[in-house]
Amino acid sequence: MNLIFLGPPGSGKGTQAKRIAGQLGLLHLSTGDLLREAVKNSTELGKKAKAYMEVGELVPDTLIIGLIEEKLRSGQLDGGFILDGFPRTIPQAETLKQMFAKNNKNINRSILLDVSDAEVIRRLSGRFYCPICNAGYNYPHQLPKKEGLCDNDGAKLMRRPDDEEAVVKNRLDVYKRQTEPIVDFYRKETILSEIAAEGAGPDEITNRLLQEIKRLKKV
Ligand code: AMP
Repeated sequence: MNLIFLGPPGSGKGTQAKRIAGQLGLLHLSTGDLLREAVKNSTELGKKAKAYMEVGELVPDTLIIGLIEEKLRSGQLDGGFILDGFPRTIPQAETLKQMFAKNNKNINRSILLDVSDAEVIRRLSGRFYCPICNAGYNYPHQLPKKEGLCDNDGAKLMRRPDDEEAVVKNRLDVYKRQTEPIVDFYRKETILSEIAAEGAGPDEITNRLLQEIKRLKKV
């Protein structure tokens, strides 16, 4: 299965994509994770992306499309995948479609995790992560066992620089202007599913997603 998870920042698409990819044996491909890794290692890509990420703007399409092309060429996408954070603009969605058509591949479904603006702001202001293993935590609902320390390796938890309040507001604004139009793009292609992703815990949302994927497999 080739899936795209769509949703605003803080919709839980990263957490859910990781869980579901693990359960279904799919590759989880997060462009945000790839970019953060590139920034950490100061690669050419990282140096170019850093300034955009710090203020919550999107990295130019050409840089991101290059990343996805590389994954496609390497064969890493051949066993099925969940794309998380890509596509993020209409040109990215169109390029993905063309790139896949050329390679006899297709996207089975785009799944939107639906969350209100107020919930996004609430979640992102409580978000922490482990710089060693990348595990995510959320105050007050997903606390580590020892305050401020990762359950897996004891590392001191950190906040993503782009989770600070002013940047969060900009990321939400960027989402509405540049990313939300792709919801309609996939609706028109008739491959859109929408899942309510608030008012329930992460396990319940995982169940909803798994049920939807099961339903799609039968269609
Ligand atoms: P995320 O972890 O998906 O929230 O991504 C973090 C940041 O990485 C975003 O705010 C963008 O600056 C950048 N980014 C991730 N994916 C993309 C993409 N597909 N297109 C452009 N910028 C991206």
